[in-house]
Amino acid sequence: MADVILETRHLTKEFKGFTAVNDVNLQVQRGHIHALIGPNGAGKTTCFNLLTKFLVPTAGQILFNNRDITSAAPAQIARQGIIRSFQISAVFPHLTVMENVRIGLQRSLGNSFHFWTSERTLSRLNDRAMALLAEVDLTEFADTVTVDLPYGRKRALEIATTLGMEPELMLLDEPTQGMGHEDVHRVTELIKKVSAGRTILMVEHNMNVVSGICDRISVLQRGAMLAEGSYQEVSSNPQVMEAYMGT
Ligand code: ADP
Repeated sequence: MADVILETRHLTKEFKGFTAVNDVNLQVQRGHIHALIGPNGAGKTTCFNLLTKFLVPTAGQILFNNRDITSAAPAQIARQGIIRSFQISAVFPHLTVMENVRIGLQRSLGNSFHFWTSERTLSRLNDRAMALLAEVDLTEFADTVTVDLPYGRKRALEIATTLGMEPELMLLDEPTQGMGHEDVHRVTELIKKVSAGRTILMVEHNMNVVSGICDRISVLQRGAMLAEGSYQEVSSNPQVMEAYMGT
């Protein structure tokens, strides 16, 4: 039987009478890279905001590891292992890459981290931060001030800070947006690499990326689920073709 890590049942969000997400049933399999695609205004961002409880659903349920998390607070969601990639704006631009990763780790330790934390803990924190930088191929940029990091590498930093929170399910918001060919390739490879042993749900517009690394694709249109399946299945679906060409 399929191992579903995340499921939404009849997920719905209305904004003053406008239904941005309409009765969405989504199933994400454990270990998959799953893409959420759809034309602008389809409801992808609203879905992500519902999953991380940035928004409260009007109706429907969200289940994570078969547990109903519909009423859980954002911090509880994160503690359970659903981590959305940080926007780069959440990173301190004038600190180094290494310092930002370390701060991310300290944050994830929460109340158990104090300024009087032992030398041993600090050294473990440094080791973990260096390991995360190595995992995302940023070792050579460890001492670079974040604001000076090349654009394409900023996503890698976001991914490193996200990995520091030990996600079971990573939500990535348009990870290749605004990138040139080379950076798109690098970030795509990185996502593939970090997906080992994890599940990824990503909003992505670049169909080369989607077809290249995603195991399953859900297509939203005007808030509703239009199609779901492999890239082959959804890309040959006449309704999907019309949704993309007709808007
Ligand atoms: P996507 O990410 O697929 O482009 P969004 O989830 O951002 O789509 O938006 C879906 C629809 O919901 C859009 O028509 C948008 O204008 C509307 N919407 C999103 N957030 C709000 C809000 N806070 N208030 C009113 N309408 C909203």
